[in-house]
Amino acid sequence: MHVLVINCGSSSIKAAVLDPVTGLRAATLRAQRVGQPGATVRVEGRTSSDTCVEDLDIDAVLDQCLPALLEAAGVPVQGVGHRVVHGGDRYTAPTWLDAAVVADIDALSPLAPLHNPANVAGIHAARRLLPDLPHIAVFDTAFHATLPRRSRTYALPTELATRHGLRRFGFHGTSHAWSSRQVARHMKADVRDLRIITCHLGNGASACAVEFGRSVETSMGMTPLEGLVMGTRAGDVDAGLLLRIMREENLDVDGLDDLLNRESGLAGLSGVGNDLRDIEARAAEGDDRCRLALHVFTHRLRRYIGGYAAVMGGVDAIAFTGGIGENSSLVRHRTLQRLGFLGARLNEDKNRDAAVDPTVPVVGIHQAHSRVGLFVVACDEQREIARQCAALVDERDQVETVRPIPIAVSARHLHLTRHAVETLFGKGHTLTPIKPLSQPGQFACAEKVTVVGPKRSIEGVRVLGPERPACQVEVSRTDEFFLGIDAPVRDSGDVRNSAACTLIGPAGQLPLAEGVICARRHIHMTPMDAAVFGVSDRDVVEVAVDSDGRDLVFGDVLVRVSPKYKLEMHLDTDEANAAQIDSSHTVGALVDVGRTARLVRRKTAFDQR
Ligand code: ADP
Repeated sequence: MHVLVINCGSSSIKAAVLDPVTGLRAATLRAQRVGQPGATVRVEGRTSSDTCVEDLDIDAVLDQCLPALLEAAGVPVQGVGHRVVHGGDRYTAPTWLDAAVVADIDALSPLAPLHNPANVAGIHAARRLLPDLPHIAVFDTAFHATLPRRSRTYALPTELATRHGLRRFGFHGTSHAWSSRQVARHMKADVRDLRIITCHLGNGASACAVEFGRSVETSMGMTPLEGLVMGTRAGDVDAGLLLRIMREENLDVDGLDDLLNRESGLAGLSGVGNDLRDIEARAAEGDDRCRLALHVFTHRLRRYIGGYAAVMGGVDAIAFTGGIGENSSLVRHRTLQRLGFLGARLNEDKNRDAAVDPTVPVVGIHQAHSRVGLFVVACDEQREIARQCAALVDERDQVETVRPIPIAVSARHLHLTRHAVETLFGKGHTLTPIKPLSQPGQFACAEKVTVVGPKRSIEGVRVLGPERPACQVEVSRTDEFFLGIDAPVRDSGDVRNSAACTLIGPAGQLPLAEGVICARRHIHMTPMDAAVFGVSDRDVVEVAVDSDGRDLVFGDVLVRVSPKYKLEMHLDTDEANAAQIDSSHTVGALVDVGRTARLVRRKTAFDQR
């Protein structure tokens, strides 16, 4: 499967057609400075092109360049994943996009004024161009939906917070989800068994405490301004300080916005811009502002890491990702100093040499005896978006192709030979059909007999027609205990060396040396059904029954395929009772009980017998 992933920012667009399983890109698109002079789009794939799009807005760029991207990819695309920054309280999982969801995302723009409007523009353009494909929104905030109340609540008056929806949301969720999963995979562990601190350090930066797979703390809050020092954002500052500079510098809201979002952070501290490479180079030359910028950046991060270890009661792994996290060994070195008390021991050589890319997405940088795994992870939000999008598309496809299998419950019954019918009911007697059974040609008869075992007997056991070449008595395990018989579990018709009993009818009795079986659970289906389920005759499968409080998965279910059959799973009364399927009205025959089962997996390619 290939997925088109689109990430529309306020002045940049990143898109790719990729395989979510391998991460391989069939084609990529990168547009920079959209809406500004010198705007260009580069598409790379089977063909490559650079286009100048100076006077075009996001819509126009997408209209022009998405077809070029798909053309360059040269593979069919099954779904479109859209990165959406803010999903608010409501969107806590990847979501199918329709007009109502798009309107909701637009309405959340006040929470992410730079991002959500651009995301919506991308969604509109892509839906217009590719109306027949499923479009799915993957939210940056969704991974943090698990933040407990104590970490998402600001200590503000409750009424005010409620009125304005003031709470912490957290961002970079796709990256934190991706890197925590990659680390767990690398450690050959289940993410649900690990406490991981993920540090996404790019132009924006955030840390996250991922406790057993769930985000329980993160450094960004209601907006991406809270937390770590970032390229141009201040991160945490004393709110009292803001009141003071507003007064003393006569700053209005826009002025404060500019100050905190665009003039602070590494850029504000260093005075040389927000690119850490430049800051590191100047610091190495002795520039004091740049040295301090690095110290403040790494000190703040270390403080968060220590805090998160305390929040989770320990830490098993710390991961660095994003442009800075992946590339700056200096930032990692400084950050991980003095974390020995947690058991984190950095291997300096591995740290210096660490290089990750999509083919080597995780590199360990800890010493062999470090109790905490330290890792560099290649950030791949596109792939995580593609994965989540593909999972949703797959789920829908499965839902559409999975046919429920009707269940029929068979109460104890028997099949008789011509000779047995005459012995039990008299010479020349023919069976009297009273009710057709669900399998074509089969019927319940008016005739009943008594089955006698060594211990007890059961009266009124229904005869099913038509007559067969061998007598067969089908009972449940409970019946066997009652009769004092140990009958084998067998397919219908396979009575050789099965258990013995005696049958008593109105005209006589008939000892059977063999013939009593406990029927093997099975599903009848047509060759067409078998093709839909991907199974063949005599396959052994597992089948799930949804039941009120007693869901059950039956193993060892035999598949029987014939054009004469109708799709139906047959259970006996014991099995039906175990799954709380009402079989009270099945006495004497095989009856459809109005319940269904779901084929969950094929156990073996072929039944060995
Ligand atoms: P964004 O958050 O915009 O996606 P990235 O994750 O690409 O940003 O990170 C960009 C930042 O990564 C750059 O501003 C730069 O500071 C930093 N960076 C990239 N390469 C290096 C490097 N080799 N050494 C130090 N910092 C680097």
